[in-house]
Amino acid sequence: MPGPAVRHDFPILSRTMHAERPLVYLDNAATSQKPRPVLDAMTSFYEESNANVHRGVHLLAEEATEELESARATAAVFLGARSENEIVFTKGTTEALNLVAEGWAARRLGPGDEIVVTALEHHANLLPWQRAAARSGATLRAVPATPSGDLGDFTFGPRTRLVAFSHVSNAIGTLLPIARLTTAAKDRGAVVVIDAAQSAPHLPLDVEALGCDFLAFSAHKALGPTGIGVLWGKADRLAETEPFVLGGGMVREVTLESATFLDGPRRFEGGTPPIAEAVGLRVALEYLRRIGMDRVVLHDRALVRGALDRLGQIRDLTLYGPADPERRVAIVSFNLRGVHPHDLAAFLDQRGICVRAGNHCAQPLMSALGCAGVVRASFALYNTMEEVDVLARALDEARELCP
Ligand code: PLP
Repeated sequence: MPGPAVRHDFPILSRTMHAERPLVYLDNAATSQKPRPVLDAMTSFYEESNANVHRGVHLLAEEATEELESARATAAVFLGARSENEIVFTKGTTEALNLVAEGWAARRLGPGDEIVVTALEHHANLLPWQRAAARSGATLRAVPATPSGDLGDFTFGPRTRLVAFSHVSNAIGTLLPIARLTTAAKDRGAVVVIDAAQSAPHLPLDVEALGCDFLAFSAHKALGPTGIGVLWGKADRLAETEPFVLGGGMVREVTLESATFLDGPRRFEGGTPPIAEAVGLRVALEYLRRIGMDRVVLHDRALVRGALDRLGQIRDLTLYGPADPERRVAIVSFNLRGVHPHDLAAFLDQRGICVRAGNHCAQPLMSALGCAGVVRASFALYNTMEEVDVLARALDEARELCP
C-alpha cells in the first residue's frame, strides 16, 4: 500500500536535514526518490553484467542486451502498447518531444498547417513546437487556459495537423481533459502528442485506449533513474519519423557517401543507450505496477484533498489550480501574500521541507496567473498525511512571521 508502508523501501527518506529535522520530500514533480530495488538492480548490473549492447557476441554483451530489451518490454506493458517495437529510449521527456518535433513535425508540416498546444505547457512541450513551426512554415497556436488551468472551448480546424498537450500541468497540477482533446484532434485527422511526464508516476496509462500517436515520460519522475525516458509512438508514425541522432547502433548499411537506417526503435537510438538506467527504469515500473496504479491514484487524491483543506484555511495563502481534488494530480501550488516564492521555499527548507519555487518552466502559464512564480508541493506514493500537516504548520508559522 502507498504511504507509510512503503517508506522503508526508500533509503533517502530516513536522512535528516537542517538541525536534524526529518526530511519531508515534497519536490516529486521535479524528481522522485528511488526505491532500494531500483538502486540494487542498477548496482548489480554494473557488478555482474556490464557490457555494451547489441554489438558483442560474448556472454556479458548478451546479458546487457537482454536487460535493455526486457526494459523495453516492461515499458510497453506499462503503457498498454501493442509491441515493444513502439518504445524508443530517450534521455527523458524533453528529448522525446524534441525527437517528434524535429523528426516528424518539422519535416512533414508546411505553410498553412497548424500546430496546437495549450497555455499550460512546460517549456519542453512548447519550445520544440515553436522551432518546428518556424522550420516548416506551419503556425503555432495555444489553447488559452483560465487561472485554474481549465481550457476554454477548443476547436481544431481542417489544417490542424498536430496537437500536443500535457496530461497534467507540472506547475499547478491541473488534470487536462485529454480524452476530449484527443477525440477533437482525431476528428480532424491531427497527430496527437501527449506529454505524460507528470502523469506516468500517478495515473494508469493506456496508449491504445487514449488513441494518441506519441506519448513521452521520464523515468526519474517515476521512481527510476535520471538519464532515461520513453517515447512511445504508434508503429506507422514512428516509421514516418526521421532519426535526429545518427551514428553507431542505428544503421543497416554505410558507405562513405550514404547510409541506410534500421527500422523500429533502434533507428532513433544512435550511440550507446542508457543501459544501467534501463535496468532501473524496468524495476521502477515493476515497483509501480506491484503497488498498483489504482491505489496510487487514491493515495494521491487523499493527500491533495488533505492539503487543499488544510492550506485553504491559512489566511493570505493563495492556492492555484482547480479546487476539486479529482481534477488535479499530486500537486498543490500556492503563494503567501507579501512573501517571494523563493523566500518561502527557503523558509520551508530550514524546517526540512523540500519544495520548489519559481516559474516551473511554464512562463506563459505564470503570466496567465499574473505572478512571476509559485511555490509547489508535489507528492509521491511514499508521502503521508503527517507530512502534509508538517507543511501546513510550517506555513502557519511563516504566516505569523509576515508583517
Ligand atoms: N513536461 C513536463 C510536464 C514536466 O513536468 C517536465 C519536467 O519537469 C518535462 C516535460 C521535462 O522532463 P525532463 O526534464 O525529464 O526531460
